[in-house]
Amino acid sequence: CGVFGVYAPGEDVAKLAYFGLYALQHRGQESAGIATFPKDHPPCLHKEMGLVSQVFNETILNTLVGELAVGHTRYSTTGTSRAVNAQPALVPTRLGHLALAHNGNLVNTPILREELLRNHHNLVTSTDSELIAFAIAEAVDSGKTWLEAGIHAFNRCQGAFSLVIGTPDGIIGARDPNGIRPLVIGALPKANSSDPTRYALASETCGLDIIGAEYLRDVEPGEMVWITNEGMTSYHWVPQPQPKLCIFEMIYFARPDSVMQNESLYTYRMRIGRRLALESPADADLVIAVPDSGIPAAIGFSQASGIPYAEGLIKNRYVGRTFIQPTQSMREAGIRMKLNPLRDVLQGKRILLVDDSIVRGTTSRKIVKALRDAGATEVHMRISSPPVTHPCFYGIDTDSQDHLIAATKSVEEIAAQIEVDSLSYLSWAGMLEETRDDPANFCSACFTGQYPVPVPEPLKSAKLL
Ligand code: 5GP
Ligand code: SF4
Ligand code: MG
Repeated sequence: CGVFGVYAPGEDVAKLAYFGLYALQHRGQESAGIATFPKDHPPCLHKEMGLVSQVFNETILNTLVGELAVGHTRYSTTGTSRAVNAQPALVPTRLGHLALAHNGNLVNTPILREELLRNHHNLVTSTDSELIAFAIAEAVDSGKTWLEAGIHAFNRCQGAFSLVIGTPDGIIGARDPNGIRPLVIGALPKANSSDPTRYALASETCGLDIIGAEYLRDVEPGEMVWITNEGMTSYHWVPQPQPKLCIFEMIYFARPDSVMQNESLYTYRMRIGRRLALESPADADLVIAVPDSGIPAAIGFSQASGIPYAEGLIKNRYVGRTFIQPTQSMREAGIRMKLNPLRDVLQGKRILLVDDSIVRGTTSRKIVKALRDAGATEVHMRISSPPVTHPCFYGIDTDSQDHLIAATKSVEEIAAQIEVDSLSYLSWAGMLEETRDDPANFCSACFTGQYPVPVPEPLKSAKLL
């Protein structure tokens, strides 16, 4: 999911949220929503199924008035794909409503739901996100302040949560003790240097760039920030946070123009492409990428190998990411809508095909076939991440383990199944070393099965072989 928040009295905060979400569209295409808080009035909310551009128009945005806004783009991992699960989740409390936007996935949802059901018999939707909102509301209603209530509720949550929470008094931004999902802080441009600094929160820096906000820093793992008319204050609510940023954000999920670990992900992905070429060279005439996610690594591969880079597949950019569509049959139809090979480029050539990952193997197999049908004489595939052998429980929908091709098949068997002449993956060490940070600071459980937050039964057995 994508989350966004902005505190800026006097500005059109709904419009800022709209554009922020527009830049975060890749993080979730199922539904979109914005809540705004006008001074001394109840909040305004609009959320619906669909893309940001489908859910909002000028007329709707004009009804969303206020001093602060929070927004969400949803990517369904828990709960069914229904309008009622769209966010922000709006919940009444003693201190007024809160509007919560969540990215990530809790692993203790059943326990939390059971505990909360004792006091709230009206838990209407099935999302873990709504449970966090209720946990905060419950704490507020027992007499706590927003900040005390936030910390109390966060301590009851296990798993991944990057949160942006609107209240009548200000915006809370928070990350779980491992900071599995990203969340960044930006400062809005000022008309006059004497104006107070106004802050925005976004899942990725591309959500700040689009509104002209300057990227200041990340919300840290186990940190909560509180943004009000007085500015921003920070609370570290976890004594010993252990950073475990999702490495898949860097490999694939986040936009290449977003900055993580002090560099654009384009630069990181190009570097792992170079490393892939050194680890697993091949004889080929052309390097091509599976667009768009494979492009930076393919360029890096071409630079390090000296094999020219070309475009061999043209993508219809108006089709959503295939993996976000809910059914297997839709997914299979998706790929034909999405990519078209360039016969003139491919004819008679030995192709080195680069992609960021193989998950189920269905897309890769179709692409390889399309390249051969278009005249490629050989297809060698190089993947800029290790084999995905384990499902994600923290908010990326990599399916249950039985659907992951590398969970049960060797690299040779996968090569045979997707019908390539050769196949190599980037090494796990290579992927992590190129982050130029301590490998211990990342979650890479989908490649290793080493889950940083223990996954309780029956969640575990539902997704693991
Ligand atoms: P596959 O060959 O596994 O069907 O698809 C691999 C391609 O789709 C890669 O280009 C990858 O970017 C994308 N992809 C497909 N499904 C998923 C998924 O469930 N999660 C992620 N992260 N990427 C996926
Ligand atoms: Fe990211 Fe994989 Fe960890 Fe999930 S399991 S948080 S996708 S690295
Ligand atoms: Mg891709």
